[in-house]
Amino acid sequence: MAIERVGVVGAGQMGNGIAHVFALAGYEVLLTDISEDALTSATSLIARNLDRQVSRTLITDAEKTDAMARIATTTRLTDLGPTDLIIEAATERETVKTAIFEDLVPHLKPDTILTSNTSSISITRLASRTDRPEKFMGFHFMNPVPIMQLVELIRGIATDEPTFQACHAVVEKLGKTSATAEDFPAFIVNRILMPMINEAIYTLYEGVGSVKSIDTSLKLGANHPMGPLELADFIGLDTCLAIMNVLHDGLADTKYRPCPLLTKYVEAGWLGRKSKRGFYDYRGDTPVPTR
Ligand code: NAD
Repeated sequence: MAIERVGVVGAGQMGNGIAHVFALAGYEVLLTDISEDALTSATSLIARNLDRQVSRTLITDAEKTDAMARIATTTRLTDLGPTDLIIEAATERETVKTAIFEDLVPHLKPDTILTSNTSSISITRLASRTDRPEKFMGFHFMNPVPIMQLVELIRGIATDEPTFQACHAVVEKLGKTSATAEDFPAFIVNRILMPMINEAIYTLYEGVGSVKSIDTSLKLGANHPMGPLELADFIGLDTCLAIMNVLHDGLADTKYRPCPLLTKYVEAGWLGRKSKRGFYDYRGDTPVPTR
């Protein structure tokens, strides 16, 4: 089937990037969020990020203008009814995602493909709550979406081949590269990345190193472009905790237990960059370690 109109649910860190890359690749994008403020900030952030691409001569001014013209926003989820492909990128909580799909399904065309950008939640379980498990799969972008090359494609147990092939073709049209993962907790990237971040938080919790020494060690000692605590702040500590809980519950192995210090930061509302405080304090000109 031809995919021309794309609905993106959730206009947070990931949703704005997803809308950006789809619009730039020529798709009509309808972006929705429960928060009007999230939609306003997403639109201005997309414009700023496109401007940066223009200033680096990665795209032309006309491409930027055309991409912006292809993005519309709405707070009414049901407006996404006529789209061909839905990418759900709302908060990493299963009850939130399930409610979105249940509200959306009665308004969709029969052949609309449903996907989730979830970092960890079972695609098969999310699919089973819809009327079209065969047309449902995981479409997992990396952060920041306009820059990161990978998209993880995850088949649920019922995903049919035409749906997989349609999503595969979309990734190619976006100019990105896909890797296919089976539907097990946190798939590939986060199954490997998140335990490393959690271990870095344990290293901090046990006093083995400070925020600065842990991040410096991995940057200079393992050649990582960002330290694990800096990366955790970038991803969002609530998202990191949610993924660790999915790994812990889904694989029933104590090696995945979330560090109590991660839980404490989330309970404090210190969620990383998006709330201006996490393992670093971002309220000043330069980030300052909080421990
Ligand atoms: P975020 O907190 O920045 O944004 C989530 C957005 O969802 C918010 O704007 C919120 O208002 C909106 N939302 C909540 N409930 C909603 C509803 N019922 N309907 C519509 N919108 C709703 O989160 P994020 O970092 O953008 O993560 C979104 C998804 O992408 C999660 O599933 C996450 O696991 C996944 N993901 C995140 C990253 C990352 O690095 N942050 C990377 C890959 C995938």
